[in-house]
Amino acid sequence: MQLYKTQTLKVYNSLTGKKEVFEPLNEGHVGMYVCGPTVYSNVHLGNCRTFMSFDMVFRYLKHLGFKVRYVRNITDAGHLENDAEDGEDKIAKKARLEQLEPMEVVQRYTLDFHSILQKFNFLPPSIEPTATGHIIEQIEIIKDILDKGFAYETNGSVYFDVNTFNKSHSYGKLSGRKLEDMIANTRALAAQDEKKNPQDFALWKKAEPQHIMRWPSPWGDGFPGWHLECTAMSTKYLGETFDIHGGGMDLKFPHHECEIAQAEASYGHSPVKYWLHANMLTLNGKKMAKSTGNNILPNEIFSGENSILSKAFTPSAVRFFMMQAHYTSILDLSNDALLASEKGYNKLMEAIENLGKLTPTEAPTTFDIASWKQRCYDALNDDFNTPILIATLFEAVKYINQVKEGTAALEQKDKEPLQLAMEQFAFDILGLENQQATQNNSEALSGTVELLIQLRNEARANKDFATSDKIRDQLTALGIQLKDGKEGTTFSIS
Ligand code: AMP
Ligand code: ZN
Repeated sequence: MQLYKTQTLKVYNSLTGKKEVFEPLNEGHVGMYVCGPTVYSNVHLGNCRTFMSFDMVFRYLKHLGFKVRYVRNITDAGHLENDAEDGEDKIAKKARLEQLEPMEVVQRYTLDFHSILQKFNFLPPSIEPTATGHIIEQIEIIKDILDKGFAYETNGSVYFDVNTFNKSHSYGKLSGRKLEDMIANTRALAAQDEKKNPQDFALWKKAEPQHIMRWPSPWGDGFPGWHLECTAMSTKYLGETFDIHGGGMDLKFPHHECEIAQAEASYGHSPVKYWLHANMLTLNGKKMAKSTGNNILPNEIFSGENSILSKAFTPSAVRFFMMQAHYTSILDLSNDALLASEKGYNKLMEAIENLGKLTPTEAPTTFDIASWKQRCYDALNDDFNTPILIATLFEAVKYINQVKEGTAALEQKDKEPLQLAMEQFAFDILGLENQQATQNNSEALSGTVELLIQLRNEARANKDFATSDKIRDQLTALGIQLKDGKEGTTFSIS
């Protein structure tokens, strides 16, 4: 029997403001869409946090036995500067500044995004569609919204008519905003503005002659509005209604609100059953963001080359730090917090390693594995509460250490189930890897080679060239090259 039949998962639905029992539209299957990155610069750690939260959600749903189709897009057109309605396309601007083709910018930062996510041990999504690959689908939706009377064309651009929509639907229900308040708080439109109303948003924008990212359409050459791509791609791969839509909290308004409006206008019904929003990673108490420069890049953390942290941290230690906070809570990055998480991560990895080496006892097991395991599930079932899961895993860490010290008992028959459960929660669901072991192994290897270099030096000092050559040649055969220089002997591993 699939696990999801025995576990009751509850998720916090931002649309209703309630924790709800998760029941997918089609039994056993889950469709999940997460807004992906705009690939005009390197992903910072804040972006990674949101994607990591949904990687964990994806992992848990799979673990429960659901067949999950996870769609995470790449935004490679239509996202304008400052998330605004007017201005330059973020990718086109970068291309102009660096004298590159826009698709060169897209390629460079898509590769960066993938390489960082791989270091963090993300599972790839089932489909990773791009906005530029779905221009035709976007144009079709615009035509449909125009036909249904919820949009208007002006001077080669098409805008969504929020006022008309709001007469029969409720614009603002996801973010809890009221259109009347929005209107009261906005300045009047400038005379030259093409929109009927400041709240209207672009479905299609006319491309000015200098705009390099452009496509033909029934309204002339132009490019799609930012919000439309997600409606087009989620519908294409998951249907008009699907189970989960995720993204960072900062996308609730206007991006997700506009997605709901577009889908309701076109299909006549709400597109998403459960809206999940991940909270922000902050640095010095302020949102980590590309635009303000208040951010740190993952590679700067892994290499230690940054002015914020005292040392380098492995991707898994950083992942553990992220998982120690609930995905809906704000999390602040600091040196002290990372150091504390690294300690916890090392303890957890050591316990898992030690568990494998433990000699089982004759005495009966002194830990209730079944109830502990269910409490781990209870934590995850409570809207993916990873901090509680980690605290529960540490109950097992304490117990494993007691068995090692001989103050608790673990029978042979219970060892494997405990091992499997620890590995499933730590590796399969939290997505951690035992990088501590890799790090320890490489430290042990360096120490060993240094020792051999020392012995070779001693042999050479004693004119025992047979021994010194033997050490060098055998190391070379193992792929370790010694290089003698003024400062002494160094080595490299091929
Ligand atoms: P962008 O590339 O700007 O479109 O952002 C990609 C994703 O990163 C979106 O889901 C954002 O909500 C998310 N994001 C941006 N800044 C942060 C942050 N400081 N903490 C967490 N998520 C963020
Ligand atoms: Zn989106």
